[in-house]
Amino acid sequence: MFAPIPVIWDTSAYDPNSLEPQTIYGTLDVANSYFHDKIVTETDVKATIEVSLMDTRVFQTTIVTPPTVEGTFYALDRYETLTSGLKGGKAMANGQEIEGTFEFDEDELLYGDTAYPGIGLKYGQLTRTVVFKPTNSRNYTTAACTVTVNVLPLTIVRINPNFEDITDKPIGTAFEQLGLAEAGSMDVMRGDPQKTTIMSDTVVWDKNQYDPNTPYEQRITGRLVLSTWKDYIAPPEGASTVSVKVKLKYDPVVPVIVTAPTFRWTKGDFRLGDNQIFVSETFQIGTETPPEEADEIGALIGGEARVGGKKIDGTFSFKAGTPKWFSAAGTYNVTVVFTPSDTVRYAPAECTIPIEVVKRILLSIEPSTDITNKEVGTEFDALWLPSFVNCRTEDGSFYSGIGVTWDKTSYDLNSTAEQAITGTLNLGDIPTIQQPVPELKATVKVRLIPHDWSDWTPDSNGTHSRVCARNSSHKETVSCSGGTATCQAKAVCSVCGQAYGQFAAHDFTAEVVEEKYLKSAATCTEKAVYYKSCTVCGEKGTETFEVGNILGHDWGEWQPNGNGIHSRICKRNATHKETVSCSGGTATCQAKAVCSVCGQEYGQLAAHDFTAEVAEEQYLKSAATCTEKATYYKSCTVCGEKGTETFEVGNILGHDWGEWQSNGNDTHSRICTRNSGHKETVNCSGGTATCQEKAVCSVCGQAWHTQLHGGNRGGTVPEIRRDLHRKGSLLQVLRHLRPERQGHRRGSGL
Ligand SMILES: [Zn+2]
Ligand SMILES: [Zn+2]
Ligand SMILES: [Zn+2]
Ligand SMILES: [Zn+2]
Ligand SMILES: [Zn+2]
Ligand SMILES: [Zn+2]
Ligand SMILES: [Zn+2]
Ligand SMILES: [Zn+2]
Repeated sequence: MFAPIPVIWDTSAYDPNSLEPQTIYGTLDVANSYFHDKIVTETDVKATIEVSLMDTRVFQTTIVTPPTVEGTFYALDRYETLTSGLKGGKAMANGQEIEGTFEFDEDELLYGDTAYPGIGLKYGQLTRTVVFKPTNSRNYTTAACTVTVNVLPLTIVRINPNFEDITDKPIGTAFEQLGLAEAGSMDVMRGDPQKTTIMSDTVVWDKNQYDPNTPYEQRITGRLVLSTWKDYIAPPEGASTVSVKVKLKYDPVVPVIVTAPTFRWTKGDFRLGDNQIFVSETFQIGTETPPEEADEIGALIGGEARVGGKKIDGTFSFKAGTPKWFSAAGTYNVTVVFTPSDTVRYAPAECTIPIEVVKRILLSIEPSTDITNKEVGTEFDALWLPSFVNCRTEDGSFYSGIGVTWDKTSYDLNSTAEQAITGTLNLGDIPTIQQPVPELKATVKVRLIPHDWSDWTPDSNGTHSRVCARNSSHKETVSCSGGTATCQAKAVCSVCGQAYGQFAAHDFTAEVVEEKYLKSAATCTEKAVYYKSCTVCGEKGTETFEVGNILGHDWGEWQPNGNGIHSRICKRNATHKETVSCSGGTATCQAKAVCSVCGQEYGQLAAHDFTAEVAEEQYLKSAATCTEKATYYKSCTVCGEKGTETFEVGNILGHDWGEWQSNGNDTHSRICTRNSGHKETVNCSGGTATCQEKAVCSVCGQAWHTQLHGGNRGGTVPEIRRDLHRKGSLLQVLRHLRPERQGHRRGSGL
């Protein structure tokens, strides 16, 4: 069992201001303890305690030298790297340097936030609070100072200026729908240009540069602007321009080729016809031109393509794949492509043009070397004319070794004159050239060397000969010629001087008038005739000629022959008799004509001439009457005999009427005294009827009954009947109801 025993400490030895350890003693007070009855109260045992008083003084610490941060720092370096770089620094307190540590103030916010170790630094002057913590924190206070670090910025090495082309947007796309990148990339370095990092930041595009309606490629620029990284990366030096290519989708319009171009091939000054090319000649468009053909130009001239009536700029060319040349003559349709200058708005268009592939026309054939070393008499084949010739064509092209077939028919192996032998070119196997019309012929001139002849010598048989000094087998024998043979002497050859041939025939052309040549003397009808004679020897020939005049007949008088003809007889020759029909004189109805040559009557009497108009009783045919003239027959002017034709004489007598006599029937009549058959009957008229009495006719005095005619007409004549002789026996009765129209009725009624 344990129970504490009280102690009574000796305080006299205690120094309350000593920092040294002190031992204090105490006496035990057993009497007042639980053990007072168990333990002896008096004892020498003392209690001890060692006392060390604490130093509780506090001194103000002063940082006399701030620490430094060793190292180079860049933006985005971790904040904790600053901590590890904190070095040095010196603090004093109570007059002496004191131990302790410098540390950043963990409670100080960094960039407004808790300063976690991993926070990236921003560039610029960074001032941080550093706290000095003394090792003896009881007696020394903590102290603080600031450390400023210059954080270097990251720098832009290169801004990637280009963005992927935008080509999939249709024309009209709004700027916002283009989908332009909002950020651009850049190569950024942390002090070492060899070590860069790709970072990206905001791009601000220039919207004003965008045209949503142009089909052309457009480039929109923008600026790379530091936004996210503005505290970490230094502002770019110089341009920060970026750009993107935008090509809005647009279907180009295919133009209409309204005029196809014309192909034209030239070689120097030579020019082929439009749309013509030679066989196997390259078009020279889109082909490589060999140096020797450098002056050959094939070009497409003109042509026009339009869109909506507007001409479109562009060029024509042969379509790719078009043959470079054609190997045979003919016409080939070749496709031509129009490539517009503006390939954005307009698409290529095609058309075809007919290319006429023609053979080159021969222009000239080089003359072959003259043949001058062959003697006359050389056979054609022995001339050894060249088998080939050289030619030029219309465009100046040269062709050698053209086969030629010479025309031997014109060759005269005996002529020493210059002969032009022509030849036909064998172009059959050459597809590229042709003959013009008319075709060209090859020519070669041949001049044969003449024989070296001797003089002509007579051969005694009418020929003369000569021999060639070069070759005695060359002998020429020719019939003698020249000179003139007569009937007396042969001809003398004008070449060799020998007489040759036959005597000539007599030349019976002399006309000599001598008795010995007389064939017949002149007569009444023939000239004198003589035989011709030989002009050389005078021998009489057989042909004749006439000399002098015809004598003419010596006629006697004309004698009548009694039968209408007369004759005369030649005094030189009674057999010469001329007989002619009589003529002249005039026949009448009374006498025949008398011939004016021989005085004898001949022929027949003439007919009567019934043209006389003699009004005598013997010619009267009918006397004059009331209505007809007297008629006579015509008579012969020569003998007075009565003819059959008639003529009229004198006047018509006219009627000799008696008095009007009433007929008792309201008409009255009168009779011609010359012919009682001539009677005229007329209705009574005139007078005045009353209710008591009939009217009395003013012509015949007889009362007449006017009521027959439908009442009193006041004296007008209602009806007239007239009997008239017309044309001898025709009696025509006319009714005259309307007397004023009588003439009209007569005209139409007869
Ligand atoms: Zn000869
Ligand atoms: Zn001769
Ligand atoms: Zn003769
Ligand atoms: Zn006669
Ligand atoms: Zn007569
Ligand atoms: Zn008569
Ligand atoms: Zn009469
Ligand atoms: Zn009467």
